Amino acid sequence: MAHWPNFASACLCGACGLLRSDVSRRGFLCTAGAAAAAAAAVAPVLVAGPTQAQPAPAVGGSSGRPILIKGGCVLTLDRAIGDFEEADVLIEGTKISAVRPSISVADAEIIDAASTIVMPGFVDTHRHMWQGILRNVLPDGSLDDYRALVQRTFGAKYTPDDAYAGDLFSALGAIDTGVTCILDWSHIQNTPEHTDACIKGLAESGVRAVFAYGSPQNETGRYWEMKGHKYPDDIARLRKQYFSSADQLMTLYMAGPTASPELILQAFKAARDVGARISIHVGVGEFGRNALLEKLHAQQALRSDTTYIHCCTLNDTEWKLIRDTGGTVSIASYVETLMGHGHPPIQKAIDTGIRPSLSVDVETSVPNDFFQQMRTVFSLQKNDVWARKLAGDKEPPKFLTVREVLEFATIEGARANGLEHKIGTLSPGKEADIILLRTDRLNVMPMNNAVGAVVTSMGPQNVDTVLIAGKVMKRNGQLVGVDFARLARLGEQARERLYSNAGVPRSRV
Ligand SMILES: [Zn+2]
Repeated sequence: MAHWPNFASACLCGACGLLRSDVSRRGFLCTAGAAAAAAAAVAPVLVAGPTQAQPAPAVGGSSGRPILIKGGCVLTLDRAIGDFEEADVLIEGTKISAVRPSISVADAEIIDAASTIVMPGFVDTHRHMWQGILRNVLPDGSLDDYRALVQRTFGAKYTPDDAYAGDLFSALGAIDTGVTCILDWSHIQNTPEHTDACIKGLAESGVRAVFAYGSPQNETGRYWEMKGHKYPDDIARLRKQYFSSADQLMTLYMAGPTASPELILQAFKAARDVGARISIHVGVGEFGRNALLEKLHAQQALRSDTTYIHCCTLNDTEWKLIRDTGGTVSIASYVETLMGHGHPPIQKAIDTGIRPSLSVDVETSVPNDFFQQMRTVFSLQKNDVWARKLAGDKEPPKFLTVREVLEFATIEGARANGLEHKIGTLSPGKEADIILLRTDRLNVMPMNNAVGAVVTSMGPQNVDTVLIAGKVMKRNGQLVGVDFARLARLGEQARERLYSNAGVPRSRV
């Protein structure tokens, strides 16, 4: 069993009642009319976060009944099962129990999936979710600008309440766009209270989160000179307090610091002492040409429990070290093209024999959805191959296919997040993290090719329904149980407080 503190009675932000209880979610399933009627009948109550973070009941939802997603075009992305022009998905408790045409279950609650594509939710392997209240603050900035404004100006002044709001906004935004699992690369651990606040925001959202415990922020960027933080050793408390069970919606990672090899090794040790996997930025810009992975390998520190982010400027030896030690890779291609990390290493990963996962990284400059991520890696890889052909290369690499890109966005994400046994495909026995994407919308109708429609043409506006661990989080295009007026107030308050504390003049135009 998971052990979660009672966040609803220990609210940090003063915004209790932000979300409505999800107690009646399962009653909302069938039609928009029924949903509206049911919603009106449910009195707003305190946040339901802690229950969302715990495993759902063993059978069915609040009603105890199975859920049957009926008559959709089903992309399981499980190569052994294949896809279906039309099939049903049966969910019992938190898990998928069957995927095939014409399932009939007498007492199931039905989700009509006509005119939708039913597929696994997207999996993001690296996002700095504390920045959820800093969306669009840096549309024209470089990596240096990002460090100066976001990390050393705003980050240094973040309160726990700001971190809570950022994580909550980012998580709800992810669910809204069909991202059902997300690694929160959380380098805002200025105090243990910041840590608790981030975890609280994630838990309240109901997203399947991987909390990657990271370093603090201060004005100099040298966290090791700060007082008051407990990085990296506080991960031992987190393991005990929040992550004592493997059977829960949130799991624990260490976010390795951008620091000297000695400090990195210290963080790796603290992670492994408590059995936490690791994620670390490497190969970023000129600074990333420092053969860091060779140095860490000399200390036997590279293992299969680690995800390497960006990897744009790694040398060939480092790439082989990742492969040979069984590591995974996260490419944040859109931000890499914007901010000067280096060329997104899509082809390099494939040539090395590594299937990458994808990540949004920063909402300060990057849209929060995965359609953008998929299209960026797809177009960049193809453009590189075309360029080689035009330059006379007689044996250029193969073009990526849309199906490969969709796998990067789902099962490869699950692998990098250490959850491939639980999510990433619609396979019986896996947890029911499922999205329904509408095909009767003007950007894709009439639908001719399901994988092509998802990767080349769809956007967040197609995300109709989202389930996480068998729980309906979004239905008929609307997040379930979110009080938007209260959410908006929380965001406004956090932003005003942060700009004031950081001494940044605010202009929205
Ligand atoms: Zn990052």
